[in-house]
Amino acid sequence: KLFISTCIISIFFLFSCNKKKNTKDSIIEDLLAKMTIEEKVGQLNLIPFGQFYPKDTVYKWIKEGKVGSILKSNGAKTNLEVQKVAVEESRLGIPILFQEDVIHGYKTIAPIPLAEAASWDLPAIRNSAAIAAREASAAGLHLTYAPMVDIAQEARWGRILEGAGEDPYLGSLIATARVKGFQESNGKHQNLLATVKHYAGYGASLAGRDYNIQNFSERELRELHLPPFKAAINAGVSSVMSAYTAYDGVPVVANKYLMNTILREELKFDGLLMTDWMTITNLVASGIAKNDTIAVKMAIETGHDMDMSSKVYLKILPSLIKNGTISEKQLNDRVRKVLRLKEKAGLFENPYAFFDEKREKDELMSPKNLKETREMAAKSMVLLKNENNTLPLSKNQKIAIIGPFAKSQKDLLGWWSAKGEAKDVVSIFDGIKAQMNNNKISYAQGCIVENFEIKGEEMIAEAVALAKKSDVVVLALGEKEWMSGEGGGVASLLLPGAQQKLLDALSKTKTPIVSVIITGRPYVLTDVAKKSSALLQAWMPGTTGGNAVADILFGVVNPTGKLPVSFPYHQGQVPIFYNYKRTSHSFNAGTGNNRYSTTHRDIQTEPLYPFGYGLSYTNYKYKNIRLDKKLMSINDSVKVSIDITNTGDRNGEEIIQLYIFDKFCSVMRPFKELKDFKKVAFKSKETKTIDFYVTKEKLQFIGINNKETIEKGDFEVMIGPNSSELQKVTFTLK
Ligand code: BGC
Repeated sequence: KLFISTCIISIFFLFSCNKKKNTKDSIIEDLLAKMTIEEKVGQLNLIPFGQFYPKDTVYKWIKEGKVGSILKSNGAKTNLEVQKVAVEESRLGIPILFQEDVIHGYKTIAPIPLAEAASWDLPAIRNSAAIAAREASAAGLHLTYAPMVDIAQEARWGRILEGAGEDPYLGSLIATARVKGFQESNGKHQNLLATVKHYAGYGASLAGRDYNIQNFSERELRELHLPPFKAAINAGVSSVMSAYTAYDGVPVVANKYLMNTILREELKFDGLLMTDWMTITNLVASGIAKNDTIAVKMAIETGHDMDMSSKVYLKILPSLIKNGTISEKQLNDRVRKVLRLKEKAGLFENPYAFFDEKREKDELMSPKNLKETREMAAKSMVLLKNENNTLPLSKNQKIAIIGPFAKSQKDLLGWWSAKGEAKDVVSIFDGIKAQMNNNKISYAQGCIVENFEIKGEEMIAEAVALAKKSDVVVLALGEKEWMSGEGGGVASLLLPGAQQKLLDALSKTKTPIVSVIITGRPYVLTDVAKKSSALLQAWMPGTTGGNAVADILFGVVNPTGKLPVSFPYHQGQVPIFYNYKRTSHSFNAGTGNNRYSTTHRDIQTEPLYPFGYGLSYTNYKYKNIRLDKKLMSINDSVKVSIDITNTGDRNGEEIIQLYIFDKFCSVMRPFKELKDFKKVAFKSKETKTIDFYVTKEKLQFIGINNKETIEKGDFEVMIGPNSSELQKVTFTLK
């Protein structure tokens, strides 16, 4: 009986799903049948609003059916007005899809994505994306251009701050968490559709100069750059944005292998593909297409459904259809993707659902969003040094808060701060002040980042005098918000301007210095570390950043963050990353067991702080790594265990990392690759046995034919608190 009723229910369920799908498809097919070629092309046209075109012009285009989507709009009220024009005054009433760069928050600005990656806390990262999605969708947006998943090994590249760092495994898990966070519905409201970008390999821009050439092999594409895209697609991401850059000599917008063969056929991406800003016309600039007409043809042939901002589809496509260069079927395929996305956003059901000013008011910077964003910011910070337990600070100490970033607000927001406003940001000074119940704090700016000439010596002297009268200095150093981000490549990774002089002068006072670093990238902190008793990488921590810094400084929160990128010892090492491949000279160069391959003669080979590194206010002892077996068969797994003790007297959480090394292989392999991790809570003095399971998925690699494969032989499994302090055991895959 049970069997029969289950069958009936399943058949009914399948039937109703199918019916639903059919109704949705028929709305789209009905529309397609009614649309003129111009209206179809209009749906592929994504244009910026706001300062880019006068309102009347945009409204006229909308009424003529020439605009499918809008970016850079301005909140629920404006969007409602625009939507009404589309729905009520255009011939077919097709609603507009509103889109925006909601990269790390909308109004409540979360820490920059690289910072969030340092939390290694997937549920928290997912929640942070969900907060951004709730706020943005309450403000009338349907789609975000995030997550950015470009793997970056290059600290000079300004856009390193938008991604999850240097590792494809961590990057893939974070990509999944972000896609789910943006897209998951919060019950009453559909959240934001996510766009994974920039497909693919943008992070490899040479020397960190943005939009530069890249030189990487198909092997590197598959080993490093594709995994997070794959993860995002498997997590159900709605759209993909292609990159500004090229792969194998052909700009990605014209690259059939990357788009048609890999993205559509191999990765089975079935959603919407959009260009980046003007990238179709850029094909002319890069000398690949002689004119816009050829560029448009190339973009259509690589399946680009949406033209961001160049308007060349609008201008040129209709004539290419009419003269038969591009078939109407090809056009319909592109339009279908756009209409499906609108359907997914619920726009055909209710085009006005997202424009609710009350919901917008309640949601933006709600106390809950601020509280959770503050927690996220504290989880993102990485304690890099803490000599003699300088931290946490005591509220009885006289604290001099010094530095050009101590009272800064805008710089804490970081690049891509959507509708976040500097005035809403809690500065480091205000964050500390809010937790001190006396007047023991004082402040000096110390220097102006961009310009030492302006009162340079005077400002430093004032700071030094203050330091001398204090028990401890909290020194906020870093980079200005505009120094990183898009186009924000730098040649020097030493903290800019007069900051080094300020640090030098303060370090002569003998008052202990706690340096708090506000940056969007790893800087070379070698000298800062030397001259500071404690060092906290606070990144660009967002709206509640100052509160979160204070939470860490006073020990309200025990730091847990670990670096998602290597911090170089010297800028000449860059690019430096942990998953270096084994070479002919790896073992005997320099330090004997050196795992960064070849050396430089003048500096250490290792970075200052390796990937995965981060301290807390307690200590963990790792011991007794062991395996449940020495021989693994392919469909089996190996259990690796280790005992970890929190030896300190504070409770804490530790990020325990597992790396694997394939000792002999038909292609050169890294000495270690992150393959698993756990964030585990430990009470003071508590010991736990932590188990991991190594399965064949963790032993796969890109083989000699550029296909995923697995080879038998010996593998080292390593567990530790970061990528350089590892204990290892070996097993054999038979
Ligand atoms: C960036 C994209 C961004 C787009 C829209 C481009 O310059 O590369 O990441 O989504 O602008 O603002």
